[in-house]
Amino acid sequence: MKRSAITTTVLVTGGSGYLGLQCVLQLLQEGYIVKTTIRSLSRKEEIINALKAGGIGNFDQLSFVEADLTKDDNWAEAVRDCTYVLHVASPFPAMDPADENELIIPARDGSLRVLKAARDAGVKRVVLTSSFAAIGYSRSPENYVFTEMDWTDPHTPGLRPYLKSKAIAEKAAWDFMEQEGGQMELTVINPVGIFGPVPGGNYSASMEFALKGLLNGDIKETPNFTFNIVDVRDTADIHLIAMTHPAAKGERFLAASEGSVSIYDVAELIRKERPQRAVKMAELKPIGAELYVHMSNEKARTVLGWKPRSKETTLLETIDALI
Ligand code: NAP
Repeated sequence: MKRSAITTTVLVTGGSGYLGLQCVLQLLQEGYIVKTTIRSLSRKEEIINALKAGGIGNFDQLSFVEADLTKDDNWAEAVRDCTYVLHVASPFPAMDPADENELIIPARDGSLRVLKAARDAGVKRVVLTSSFAAIGYSRSPENYVFTEMDWTDPHTPGLRPYLKSKAIAEKAAWDFMEQEGGQMELTVINPVGIFGPVPGGNYSASMEFALKGLLNGDIKETPNFTFNIVDVRDTADIHLIAMTHPAAKGERFLAASEGSVSIYDVAELIRKERPQRAVKMAELKPIGAELYVHMSNEKARTVLGWKPRSKETTLLETIDALI
């Protein structure tokens, strides 16, 4: 159902990305006028083809702007005439780079570039895609339930570059708003690991790592951690709700479906529900209950009325789409 009658323009940064494309798709489905930034306009056709696979037939409401998070060029043009900005783009590599600044600089300075340009253009609200990376990596998860009140301290010893980049970028965004945000509003979404099918099959690093390795039998032991899942369609949905919901102003929202899983749990789900996909999978052992990470999605559900799918639905639909 369309949320509003639309002559409203929204910028999505990073329309080439796994989540960015899904945000563009859902905004077009709702009738918004959409602009999206990509690093090279040579990828325009690829994005249009993926959106066609997602059911979009008319591209009159979509335009592209070439912009890089590490350069000033074209950000003013990107935000021009926009009421809202979904700032989704940020480096999300499969492997850690040798130099953490390869992630921190585009994440932090890119967010500040987008916020400054948006403020100067009179944008009403920016929704920034942060991450659970900015919430849950500075304290022991034992006997604890993480919420939006928690912050990852970027100085935590051993913090991996991607986690650090997201914590630093989100903090910089809130600091900017406090000091020079003017009338503009900021809302932050903190998703856990994003899974789920997308048109065009452009999957993210987390999904490639976790599911393909498991199905191919490359994962031979259960790693000693659990992870939480949120569906890419629900993640785009919470961005769209947060964009206009009055109560979202100035808030951060943890986006996760209920319950965490270990790789063993995912393997068991596949064996039970998709036995034909389990033939190459290695035998795995369960991990101890004390290793499970717990978090609450209550704020997003109660304040925004957000209703995420179950993690089982997301995992199985992802596996079906990956095959
Ligand atoms: P993705 O598919 O790798 O998308 C990342 C996007 O950022 C791409 O469009 C990429 O452009 C763009 N980007 C990277 N560096 C850039 C730069 N220097 N200038 C301009 N654009 C740049 O990953 P994703 O999963 O969709 O991630 C989207 C957002 O969700 C990120 O902010 C990420 O931190 C956050 N997030 C992801 C997960 C997850 O599990 N996937 C979980 C929590 C939060 P190119 O296509 O040109 O590389």
